Amino acid sequence: MKINANVLDRQYFMHQKEYEDKVLDVLRSGYYILGNEVKEFEKEFASYIGSKYCVGLANGLDALWISIKLLGIKEGDEVLVQSNTYIATVMGITMNNATPIFIEPNEFHNMDDSNIESYITPNTKAILVTHLYGQATKMDKILEVCEKYNLKLIEDCAQSHGSMYNKQMTGSIGYVGCFSFYPSKNLGCFGDGGAIVTNDEQFAEKVKTYRNYGSQKRYYNETIGTNSRLDELQAALLRVKLKHINELTQEREQLAQRLLNEVKNPLIELPKVDQDCTHVWHLFVIQTDLRETFMDYLSKHEIQSLIHYPIPPHLQEAYSDLGYKVGDFPVSERLAERVLTIPLYNGMTKEEMDYLIQTINQFKG
Ligand SMILES: *Cc1c(COP(=O)(O)O)cnc(C)c1O
Repeated sequence: MKINANVLDRQYFMHQKEYEDKVLDVLRSGYYILGNEVKEFEKEFASYIGSKYCVGLANGLDALWISIKLLGIKEGDEVLVQSNTYIATVMGITMNNATPIFIEPNEFHNMDDSNIESYITPNTKAILVTHLYGQATKMDKILEVCEKYNLKLIEDCAQSHGSMYNKQMTGSIGYVGCFSFYPSKNLGCFGDGGAIVTNDEQFAEKVKTYRNYGSQKRYYNETIGTNSRLDELQAALLRVKLKHINELTQEREQLAQRLLNEVKNPLIELPKVDQDCTHVWHLFVIQTDLRETFMDYLSKHEIQSLIHYPIPPHLQEAYSDLGYKVGDFPVSERLAERVLTIPLYNGMTKEEMDYLIQTINQFKG
């Protein structure tokens, strides 16, 4: 049996007719940019997250850098960010010429808050938290520190649609929540898409203006903006998927639960979930000292596995100018050598899961 790391058409076929009807509606409407579908999706997504406002954007990276820019963060400013996040999170900071200050992750792969105050300087403007792999970050201490030092809290929710800390949805906890709807994300569209959510009406309006060349009224430009619009087709398809997001999340939880209960191999360390945090299992990430051997073994059994991520941002060639070297963030560096993502996707069959579990359990190193 062949198992790919992710199989995206399964969730399309689950609700095929709804998606196809919707596409035809949009095609026949004659309205393709900033019409009713985007407006309605923004309302529905804000309501799902529990924020007052949502603004649709072209992708998740735009959600990050535009938010950071419109918060006034610029050259000379510092933003705390975890050292094992996806590089897009860090680019959201550096695209504004601001400086990322890396914070090591805890055992849940999220920001370790234990020494967080020691990283704050007079230049610190914000904390950017990534709810990595789909698990909500424990936010109490981070919120307290943001309050105490008057820092803006930005959430990178590209992997955490629907996950909660203390029963509150990620994205609605900070000042602004940044989402990606890239096809493989838990709420993925059929192309590129993104959004921000916030409770600040003025900020939402600023983002709305900025995404459309700095203009709300056609050909009247208040500011110099950019082009970062969510299109009608993607918004329409997202509205269909959003109706099913709870069942899709539940299915992921059930698949993850099977792995947590049934994978029993002393060579494989299973992921852990923090207290008061929920996990929506965007990625099921195990750890092992024998990663290369295990990957080869899986691959021989036709199971695809992926590494999220093999090189932490501070050691990426792209960031050599930051001047970091091996050993500067040992927790992230060790994770980069040990983490492995095994297949978990909506529409995964019982037979596929049985085979995956059995194969992992038979690994002898
Ligand atoms: C996917 C992702 C992004 C970027 O989203 P795009 O839509 O691909 O631009 C940002 N941060 C994290 C953590 C991601 O996983």
